[in-house]
Amino acid sequence: MKPPICAICYKDFEDRKEGGLIYFRKRPEDEEWRKRMKEGGMVGHPPYAAWFCGEHYEEARKLENLTIDEAMKILRELFRAK
Ligand SMILES: [Zn+2]
Repeated sequence: MKPPICAICYKDFEDRKEGGLIYFRKRPEDEEWRKRMKEGGMVGHPPYAAWFCGEHYEEARKLENLTIDEAMKILRELFRAK
């Protein structure tokens, strides 16, 4: 697993109670990844999952039915640097 750093603001929120990991809809290559990891008996950070801090978690959660590519595009637009 990757350390908990928000995919939007890159804030390290390890000590915080808010936020969490969101698993997005799997793309075909993500199914491939899962299969490879399973066959190899490996564990790793799923390419279709990302951490979000408390500030960004709720919005990210609304998009969990999208793939990570689609969701990140929308979220980056939404939370574009002020
Ligand atoms: Zn954040």
